[in-house]
Amino acid sequence: MTLKTWSARAAAWGADYRRRLRDLPVRPRTQPGEILRQIPEAPPEAGEGMEAIFADFEQIIAPGMTHWQHPRFFAYFPANAAPVSVVAEYLVSAMAAQCMLWQTSPAATELETRMMSWLRASLGLPEGFTGVIQDSASTATLAAVLVMRERATAFGANHRGLKAFPQLRIYASQEVHTSIDRAVWISGIGVENLVKIPSQGPHHAMDASALRAAIEADIAAGHQPAGVIGCVGGTSIGGCDDLSEVIAVAKEFDLYTHVDAAWAGSAMICPEFRHFWAGVEGADSVVFNPHKWLGAQFDCSAHFLRDPEALVRTLAARPEFLKTPGAEDIVNYSEWSVPLGRRFRALKKKKKLWFLLRFHGLEG
Ligand SMILES: *Cc1c(COP(=O)(O)O)cnc(C)c1O
Repeated sequence: MTLKTWSARAAAWGADYRRRLRDLPVRPRTQPGEILRQIPEAPPEAGEGMEAIFADFEQIIAPGMTHWQHPRFFAYFPANAAPVSVVAEYLVSAMAAQCMLWQTSPAATELETRMMSWLRASLGLPEGFTGVIQDSASTATLAAVLVMRERATAFGANHRGLKAFPQLRIYASQEVHTSIDRAVWISGIGVENLVKIPSQGPHHAMDASALRAAIEADIAAGHQPAGVIGCVGGTSIGGCDDLSEVIAVAKEFDLYTHVDAAWAGSAMICPEFRHFWAGVEGADSVVFNPHKWLGAQFDCSAHFLRDPEALVRTLAARPEFLKTPGAEDIVNYSEWSVPLGRRFRALKKKKKLWFLLRFHGLEG
């Protein structure tokens, strides 16, 4: 097999797939187990030819897929992968770099920095914000909840565990995505300590006075409020908190604020929609997914931060083998995220983003 021949075959298949996609059924006509039965139970002892492998892909796998890029796919959320981001993905995959440190991927790191500032400006966020590209909104929210935990325990919970501290409390409206619940599970805070505040009004916004009352009651009970998660574009009906109000209450109690705008964030490129997240500039952390509405290939989640210091203090591990001698003035994005290894997301994500934003422009 040659990489050149089979890359060309794959590219030709991809282009043809996109061309005939409209005529395929959105969902495959297959029963559970049908595809599994067509794949041998044991791996082959000897290698096989690419011709046979590729033919099986075409005959068994492709017809068994649900087509997310189909023009009549209306389920869940849009996960558009613009053709230009497919091309960027191929280049990323060809280089297959690990982009955890500046040293392991200088161009990826620096392109990521620039793409996050392009996105920041595109959404109208203030200049002070920096950011990192995470694999998913769930990971960004987990990172934010871990920062809430560490800040509320004077950066002690990573060392001593949660038992050494009062019960931490996190606040969010009823409209938030289950990724918030999971972040609270995984952080060890416990979902009983995720206080769901009622939402109200035409935007299904968190009741800010109920938020204040809940925080005060928790303090009176000896608990430790740790952070508030704002919702812009809830999962069930698109609820949007009044961020100015919610963040003002959080600041009264010095609480860290994170905003989940996973699907709706892309709309903020259009100034006429920014009233939906008025007040966002006061948040400590904001996440949105270019891999949903913006046409970036999955996975690409933009995580903005007012100040990365607390995040890096929460997540950075610096063993000898991850140090870059003589280079103090660099960013190592693995210190900003839960996984150590990272794809070239700016290329992929970063490059994907780079290709995407350049090809379509903000106007597109
Ligand atoms: C899709 C979505 C998420 C989860 O996003 P992942 O990137 O898949 O983790 C979280 N919150 C909201 C509002 C969403 O729409």
